[in-house]
Amino acid sequence: MIKIGDNTLHKHGLSYDDVLLVPQYSDIKSRSEIDLSSALGKELTLRLPIFSSPMDTVTEDNMCVAMDEHGASGIIHRYNTIEEQSRIISLAAESINSNLGAAIGITGDYLERASEAYNQGANFICVDVAHGHHLSMKIALHRLRTMLGDDFHIMAGNVATLDGINDLSDWGADSVRCNIGGGSICSTRIQTGHGMPGLQTILDCAKTDRDVTIIADGGIRNSGDIVKAFAAGADAVMCGSLLAGTTESPGKSYKDGSGLTWKKYRGMASKEAQIDWKGKYSSFEGVSSRVPFKGPVENILFDLQKGIRSGFSYSGARTIKEFQAKSTLITQTAAGATESGTHITQREW
Ligand code: IMP
Repeated sequence: MIKIGDNTLHKHGLSYDDVLLVPQYSDIKSRSEIDLSSALGKELTLRLPIFSSPMDTVTEDNMCVAMDEHGASGIIHRYNTIEEQSRIISLAAESINSNLGAAIGITGDYLERASEAYNQGANFICVDVAHGHHLSMKIALHRLRTMLGDDFHIMAGNVATLDGINDLSDWGADSVRCNIGGGSICSTRIQTGHGMPGLQTILDCAKTDRDVTIIADGGIRNSGDIVKAFAAGADAVMCGSLLAGTTESPGKSYKDGSGLTWKKYRGMASKEAQIDWKGKYSSFEGVSSRVPFKGPVENILFDLQKGIRSGFSYSGARTIKEFQAKSTLITQTAAGATESGTHITQREW
């Protein structure tokens, strides 16, 4: 790192494609020997530590129920009225066995929203803002703690730095969503010039000495990225695009002219989402897009957990903690990254 004036400049900020994990001796005979469970603090434990993003094209009641069934967890988005969010939470809470999250903001009616979510059966709250390292977050966390007590799990974010995760922890968060500007539908870095390469954020935040857990959020494209996030210090990951386009994600699928089936997937700070949600847009930091229709989310979760287990096996680790202690990251060049992708060149002669 070099210092310029009062700013610290990271010479290198690593992203997922910049690294690989060095394969290591393993005595694991079957992927079933691997336990992926992760304790995230205050009775929030996931058998499969994946959260679905609190976005209106990713998580409502059906997604929460399916995620919970497979040991993961959904977080119901906040881009609706309190009544509508309460209705969705109560629809899910009948069928949930373990964990159900609900997102709230940090201005306006957020305390009432949190109290309703709690009353309807959410067992954790996600304080969901684009720039979580902020005075308003400090005030909100203080009020939420006073209202919900010390035993209730509060997730908060997003942050990109060690100072950010430390402050949110000191202000009352149990788990923190880490990464700013890395989401597939995000244009924050383009609009504002701010952000940090996603994996670097996790590496930096993992240096925390606070009693807080790390959610690697945004930019996760496959099980390999999830494995790298765990190696860097994440306790769980959060996924939007990977889980969008499934049967359980909100919205209808549609066919295009060539017969392919799609579902909408959009950033919650996109112009379109803001207009739908509050009738107008201010600054926009996301785009509206579509993803191929993928069928039931259980197929995605099945493939992800198989890939993660294989990943742990390549490092000879049976738990996340063991994996974090053993795993060794190596940086790769652009040529290495090309080699790491499927790269057959089609030649039939
Ligand atoms: P993905 O998994 O790469 O698709 O990223 C999903 C994550 O992007 C979410 O969990 C949020 O942290 C973030 N996100 C959602 N909407 C927006 C937006 O409009 N702008 C920037 N980031 C967003």
